[in-house]
Amino acid sequence: MIEALTCPFCGAPYRETIPAGTVQVKCQYCGAIILVPPSLGGVVRQCLNHPETLAVGLCNDCSQSFCTRCLYVLNVQGGRLYVCAKCYENRTAKGKIAAVLSFVLALIFLAAIPFLMASPAASSDIGGVFRILFYAILLLAISAVGLFIKPKSPPSLYDMMSKGAYMHTPKSFLKKCVKCEREIPIASEKCPYCQARQPEYEA
Ligand SMILES: [Zn+2]
Ligand SMILES: [Zn+2]
Ligand SMILES: [Zn+2]
Ligand SMILES: [Zn+2]
Repeated sequence: MIEALTCPFCGAPYRETIPAGTVQVKCQYCGAIILVPPSLGGVVRQCLNHPETLAVGLCNDCSQSFCTRCLYVLNVQGGRLYVCAKCYENRTAKGKIAAVLSFVLALIFLAAIPFLMASPAASSDIGGVFRILFYAILLLAISAVGLFIKPKSPPSLYDMMSKGAYMHTPKSFLKKCVKCEREIPIASEKCPYCQARQPEYEA
């Protein structure tokens, strides 16, 4: 029996031959990096956060191995990325820096107002002072949104799968779990939903 490697991300079978000792392959269907399971000659890799859990894939940014609960699905231009929590935070950190900058700029504007009021030229131009005040408030609002409203974290791979992530997988790549009867990738040894062991897959 030839066992097929199935992409844990999209459920598509990996059809290339995997040389012994290969640690990871790239899914040709969704582009995710898949760890070759030990049953196919791969190396056992544990999730960095859960040493008791077998890792299924790599973070696209840091290349560490993670389980389905620890990889987050990011929809980006041109496809999908799978990143760990830490790398996701790094990706959102840029937005935080912009928020801090606009906060500082708002403070500078606010600090400038008393000086403008005090100068004799400004008293005739009260509209100008209001305009600066308006910009300062606008910048404060922008920074508040960036700093205090936490962006919703993207779904983890596990969330995606429990919502039926194999929906878009061609039917011929799927089979039914013997226990929970949900559709799972055809070569699964274990149901990703209920963890039930599956009977051996005959190609
Ligand atoms: Zn895939
Ligand atoms: Zn990472
Ligand atoms: Zn994990
Ligand atoms: Zn099941």
